[in-house]
Amino acid sequence: MKEACGVFGVYAPGRAVAQLTFDGIYALQHRGQESAGMAVSDGETITVVKDMGLVTAVFDERTLSSLPGHLAIGHTRYSTHGSSDWAAAQPVYRPVGRSGFALGHNGNLTNTTELAERAGMLPGMVGTDSDAVAELVAREYPLDSPDPDAVAVDDLRDALRVVLPGVKGAFSFVLLDANHLYGVRDPQGFRPLCLGRLGPVDRPEGWVLASESPALDVIGAAFVRELEPGELVVIDETGVHSEQLYPPEQVEPHLCIFEFVYFARPDSKLYGREVHGTRRRMGELLAEQAPVDADLVMGVPDSGVPAAEGYARQSGIPYGQGLVKNRYIGRTFIDPDQQARMNAVRRKLNPLRDNIAGKRLIVVDDSIVRGTTTQAIVGMLRDSGAAEVHLRISSPPFQWPCFYGIDTPNRDELLAATKSLPEIERFLGVDSLAYITIENLKAAIDTPGAGFCDACLTGRYPVPVPVFINRTSGPEEAPHGAPPVVALQAALPGV
Ligand code: SF4
Repeated sequence: MKEACGVFGVYAPGRAVAQLTFDGIYALQHRGQESAGMAVSDGETITVVKDMGLVTAVFDERTLSSLPGHLAIGHTRYSTHGSSDWAAAQPVYRPVGRSGFALGHNGNLTNTTELAERAGMLPGMVGTDSDAVAELVAREYPLDSPDPDAVAVDDLRDALRVVLPGVKGAFSFVLLDANHLYGVRDPQGFRPLCLGRLGPVDRPEGWVLASESPALDVIGAAFVRELEPGELVVIDETGVHSEQLYPPEQVEPHLCIFEFVYFARPDSKLYGREVHGTRRRMGELLAEQAPVDADLVMGVPDSGVPAAEGYARQSGIPYGQGLVKNRYIGRTFIDPDQQARMNAVRRKLNPLRDNIAGKRLIVVDDSIVRGTTTQAIVGMLRDSGAAEVHLRISSPPFQWPCFYGIDTPNRDELLAATKSLPEIERFLGVDSLAYITIENLKAAIDTPGAGFCDACLTGRYPVPVPVFINRTSGPEEAPHGAPPVVALQAALPGV
């Protein structure tokens, strides 16, 4: 699984905002490794630099020093909607109004076709869901609007107020115009977005927005708070201004539960909890729920490791490292067959044979999606002499595709959607397999009353998803002229 994107924004007159943005998106690189970009404003002109590749491949000292300004936004991308090429890289820029505006998006929209039609975009013009939103926002600028009926507004904030209530799905946006930085979360708050401060409390020197709090830490900004679902903040020389864009009945927090399990960095703070501690607790509860006699507990690097530590602590079975990860592997490619996947796993993970040979192993990982990578890891452990392999997973069975900003396969490729537990055990070649229950997963996160999206685990989708969901070939958006959306539950018999 791949996270869709990371977003970052900084308003800091007198600081090197391009360098700060570089550092911020570098800390968010795990959320997207296909392309990177930033938009920088000096108060008159907005300059956008973006390209395919990692943050360090797109930006160097020379590029950064050629980007003076007092505010900037940045983006790292992994595509879930639209093509994977330069044109789809972000930030998206629209040359409207005095200086234009730029937008960066983390998430995935569920009514892109409808938005594109409203924006007057022909099917071939819609590159990404973010393009459709940018186009609609641009149309709300009166001077450039081709639509005489468009609501007359005079700045980006007012355009967002008009457009966003009609945008469905998952979005954490950062935007800028010449002199303002904006951040906004959808009313479900699927994707995280937090606010930080540069300088002391009584004399702030700047403000920062970021998908995850470690991006604040790396630039020396203090964590202030998470943005609320549905909240819009506007930042300028007068400070941070906040408003709720949605009526209370439409604000239903559903933070992606997989941010805790896998996506977010362990040093991130979400719902006031540090993610690493929640992962360790998942392992502790998994040990209570699914004990097994063994010699060694090991985690699959990286995100399986804290849960493995928790499992070991709770069970009293020693923890040890069994797999070493090559940290210099960037993107892993989608390999066509099992042998190629096995090779990919070998490039990435190497077994510590002294810790494995002759041992009864408890192997803790965060999730199983297709199962092909897990199968390759188990094969590697067997080849290294493991006597037994007991697999423990710190998320419940992944049975449904995600439509809210995570790249997942179609349902017929999800192992837990197509096989029973004994069949999965045989497929993976393990002696036993257990998944944490959804109740224990939420108990480990320990945020009573907080709302989560768990649709990929339960099939309960908090926001309707596109109607043309072919359960064998996967989701597609409705073609033009067809009814745009319907509740997934209605589209799927037996849900
Ligand atoms: S469906 Fe799963 S991966 Fe997607 S937002 Fe919901 S919890 Fe996260």
